[in-house]
Amino acid sequence: MKLAKYIANLGYGSRRDVMRMLDDGRVTRTDGSELEEGEEIAHEDILVDGEPLDPSPASILILHKPVGYVCSTGGSERLIYELLPDRLRVRSPVMAPIGRLDLETSGLLLLTDDGQVNHRITSPRTHLPKIYEVELANDLTGNEAREFASGTMLLESETEPLKPAQLHVIDNRHVRLTLTEARYHQVRRMFAAVGNHVVSLHRAAMGDLHLGALGAGEWRVISPDERSLLGLPGVSSPKEP
Ligand code: URA
Repeated sequence: MKLAKYIANLGYGSRRDVMRMLDDGRVTRTDGSELEEGEEIAHEDILVDGEPLDPSPASILILHKPVGYVCSTGGSERLIYELLPDRLRVRSPVMAPIGRLDLETSGLLLLTDDGQVNHRITSPRTHLPKIYEVELANDLTGNEAREFASGTMLLESETEPLKPAQLHVIDNRHVRLTLTEARYHQVRRMFAAVGNHVVSLHRAAMGDLHLGALGAGEWRVISPDERSLLGLPGVSSPKEP
């Protein structure tokens, strides 16, 4: 792909805007020498205004979503895109969330511009475990673990029973819940169905990928080793323009 189109697809402007940026010497190699249209160069060797390019196509980002942000591209609430370079929302294809977390839920959120990867991780056939830390308004009754693990539990207005979910009790009002599916407001609805109420909800991990030391609002690109923790092939070499 031609350099200007490649950079334009990353959300830096139209092809014509990027051609102008090239003419103005704003697109350089890491040694500061100017790049020209038609040159072949690896993604990580390109700077715009002295800054590295945004993550390469087919990257997966891990974001520690804070409470109070929504996983959509518009609306009146604060958007997760406010925590990321603005270009990620307008690049083509867009850097989209892999599944969603509610406005009031914090924790591990993945994003990618790779539709196949997104589909693979979110497909109900994948059964990737998602681990939630839950604080409850009322004490547990003691029946929840059995009910959640039964494989027969029905949520209100649904006809398909929930897949077995694993409950790990920390104390009477704090649990860790592992789900292998992702239905609308699933954790909150599961606890509502057993007469409780979720006070706070945080996703700590997906598969063996944990948030680790990533602070609320921080993000980074996951490594090839981390991709394999999600059951994906490890290597995603940056695509050349
Ligand atoms: N379950 C919920 O209720 N909310 C989320 O954001 C994720 C799982």
